[in-house]
Amino acid sequence: MVDRQNRVGSKFGGGGVSSAQQTERERKERLRQLAMETVDLARDPYLMRNHLGTYECKLCLTLHTNEANYLSHTQGKKHQAGLARRAAMEAKMAKQNEATDVMMALRAGTQVSQAQSKVKIGRPGYEVSKSRDPDTNARCLTFELHYPELDGGNRQPRHRFMSAYEQRVETPPDNNYQYLLIACDPYETVGFKIPNEKIDKGEGKFVTNWDVDSRMFTLTLHFVDEEAEKN
Ligand SMILES: [Zn+2]
Repeated sequence: MVDRQNRVGSKFGGGGVSSAQQTERERKERLRQLAMETVDLARDPYLMRNHLGTYECKLCLTLHTNEANYLSHTQGKKHQAGLARRAAMEAKMAKQNEATDVMMALRAGTQVSQAQSKVKIGRPGYEVSKSRDPDTNARCLTFELHYPELDGGNRQPRHRFMSAYEQRVETPPDNNYQYLLIACDPYETVGFKIPNEKIDKGEGKFVTNWDVDSRMFTLTLHFVDEEAEKN
């Protein structure tokens, strides 16, 4: 944009150029002043001053003649996309670390806790019961978790399954098992190691319930009876 302005100026004579350049200098100076006021460049992890006195964006590997130029670059698509990618990657890493923490604890027993810097108020109480479906005789597991200290109705437990290959602590991964994780901040996440068998997602076969009054989360699952399915 800047170049075009100068070219346009030169077409119409010398006076245009110098006034365009003057304006551009003023614009840059204003930008620089503004930038100095609003952005702490010393804290920008991606800005690097090189030995030539120019600037580099370590995120995009681009060169910039001055701080103002770098700053306008940081508002551009390339840099913004780079930041978004980086944030997504960091979130993914944090999630993996969390999963790893859970798996580390899982080794010690059925119930696990997460080592995290966040303040946790402890583990929920839990009960697991095994049963058989009275009609189909399919094996059934019921998990009951108690979160008595949870305040407000905004939070509720979330569950997710994790495969043996997804977790990275128990090595080698034992494909005979999968993991059911139940999380509810600020309680610690608990994980249950269960057989890696197909879970019945049919109606009434996989049920979760959050009773906000008693702060109790219940999850009931049925395993698909592979033998019965074949017949
Ligand atoms: Zn950049």
